[in-house]
Amino acid sequence: MTDQLLNDRDLRFQLYEVLDTEAVLQRPRYAELDRAVFDATLETARGIAAEFFAPHNQKGDANEPTFDGEKVTLIPETKAAWDAFAAAGFLAAHHDYADGGLQLPEVVLRACMAYFNAANIATVGYSFLSIGAANLVKSFASEELRQHFLPPMLDGRFSGTMALTEPGQGSALGDLRTSARPAADGSYRISGSKMFISGGDHELTENIVHMVLARIEGAAAGVKGISLFLVPKFLVNADGSRGARNDVALAGLLHKMGYRNTTSTVLNFGEKQGAVGYLVGEAGKGLGYMFQMMNEARIGVGLGAASLGYQSYLHALAYARERPQGRLPSSKNPLAPQVRIVEHADVRRMLLQQKVYAEGSLALCLYASSLVEDSHSAVDAEQRRQAAELLDLLTPVVKSWPSRYALLASEIGVQVLGGSGYIREYPLEQLYRDNRLNPIHEGTEGIQAIDLLGRKLGPRGGQGYSLFLAKIRSSLAEAASHTHCVLLVAALRSALRIVEQVTSELQKQIAADADRGLSNATVYLDLFGKLVVGWIWLRQALAACKGLDAGAHGSEADFYLGKLHAARYFMDWELAGLEDQARLLGTGNRICFDMQDTWF
Ligand SMILES: Cc1cc2nc3c(=O)[nH]c(=O)nc-3n(C[C@H](O)[C@H](O)[C@H](O)COP(=O)(O)OP(=O)(O)OC[C@H]3O[C@@H](n4cnc5c(N)ncnc54)[C@H](O)[C@@H]3O)c2cc1C
Repeated sequence: MTDQLLNDRDLRFQLYEVLDTEAVLQRPRYAELDRAVFDATLETARGIAAEFFAPHNQKGDANEPTFDGEKVTLIPETKAAWDAFAAAGFLAAHHDYADGGLQLPEVVLRACMAYFNAANIATVGYSFLSIGAANLVKSFASEELRQHFLPPMLDGRFSGTMALTEPGQGSALGDLRTSARPAADGSYRISGSKMFISGGDHELTENIVHMVLARIEGAAAGVKGISLFLVPKFLVNADGSRGARNDVALAGLLHKMGYRNTTSTVLNFGEKQGAVGYLVGEAGKGLGYMFQMMNEARIGVGLGAASLGYQSYLHALAYARERPQGRLPSSKNPLAPQVRIVEHADVRRMLLQQKVYAEGSLALCLYASSLVEDSHSAVDAEQRRQAAELLDLLTPVVKSWPSRYALLASEIGVQVLGGSGYIREYPLEQLYRDNRLNPIHEGTEGIQAIDLLGRKLGPRGGQGYSLFLAKIRSSLAEAASHTHCVLLVAALRSALRIVEQVTSELQKQIAADADRGLSNATVYLDLFGKLVVGWIWLRQALAACKGLDAGAHGSEADFYLGKLHAARYFMDWELAGLEDQARLLGTGNRICFDMQDTWF
């Protein structure tokens, strides 16, 4: 097994050779930073992740949080990890200096988060949600609310949650029933039940700030009637001190397959007099505001899946390099020493698959984070607009591709270890269980598929799609002139043609009959995702070519050759099934659509 969290060389390759993260240093916002600061911050993240998060990953899984009717108890290491994370400034890392932040670019912060995710996805869950909740407060809350809640959320005294899901609705947010009644003092009284709320109760912080979606009494049905409320666990007095307990009760903890050290809660709001809630922004715009947090969280979920898949790959690789078993088919001598399993071609196949899924997922999420950065801080308005359009298009893929394929990397990791993969003495089974959440939360895979095909590529979409196609064409043109990359061009060019054709076919099918046209959306998401990640691998191959052309040798040359070979694997093996998927989609195959409930 390995104590490596990620491959540090790969992380730096992504940041500085594939993404050119140093270019952001030219922007006024980052005038006081340099690459040494980025590297030192990454080093700090890796150190804290290794010292405060990784050691209790297994313990937190084996000793899940408990609730005695009054108080939630977590293993004590969780609080030490929260404190270390907050003390190093990671809760406020990308915020302005004026707010006590470090003004760290988004992509560097996300790279840091990859270390924490890889070390202990469950414990970092509290920080992950708190960062998103603080961003919501910062973007949309009134000055008064911001003054009261933002500083303690950024320094770690308060944590945050996102409270959307209810027992009766998950994917269909428009049907939520939690209600808000206006009170005389301008605040609201919130009543209703929320389910699956991560980090919804614990003793890690003085207070918990729930960002709650609810419907003001008399508001319209559907998404237009939804507003966003800030509902603290404890009220906050005018001087900032902690006030009375709000009417938010923990009805119970849920017991999960993985991510066990993050509390998963059912919260009852307003069982007594009504929970005091403060309207954030304008009434009726709550879902729009919440989409900021959801979109950030979608990249975060993709990155979480990528980090777990990456850990699974590193463990499997380390095991395969040590475990002797059997001999090669050509060996006839029973007394010859056994080979290490990495020497079996079938094990190398599994490791290659893990490598393209894990490294491809990480590269995809960091690319998306660079788009977030560009959409905020690029100097040129057109560059900001284009980054936002591309990000909008790609977000469903960034959430769902790692959730499916980095999960598969975890599953394959179990297989590489054989029996040892299945037992709790080794980390693979926990990594797999932890990773299994990712295709479910923050919008299931099916919901991402409908978002991509029905909305992003639907009648109102298109801008991001054209930009994306242009980007692939430009990378293909560049690759055609590189000796090492030219082999990759044909397969990706063919995938591009297939996706363009099938997209226009499906757009016609949807225009004729939305129910039917969208019925195979998840297969389309998979097809489109393979094109996106194929392109992500081509970008890595191009950067590797540059490294080789610059005269890399020894382990550096091996690193680049590994990237090129993995890119070839992706083009040859992972893009191979595209034509069949496209045929089913393009001809409007209706087998699933026509299946009747009574025929099962
Ligand atoms: C561990 C965990 C942590 C979570 N954390 C949070 C949190 O912090 N805050 C929060 O608000 N929520 C949280 N959730 C809730 C999570 O976001 C929901 O579980 C998820 O959105 C799915 O909703 P659901 O469970 O009600 O499933 P459903 O919506 O009932 O979906 C069940 C199945 O039906 C499919 N389906 C549903 N509608 C459609 C449709 N229109 N078209 C096609 N297929 C459809 C889905 O894809 C899925 O396969 C968490 C969930 C878990 C398990």
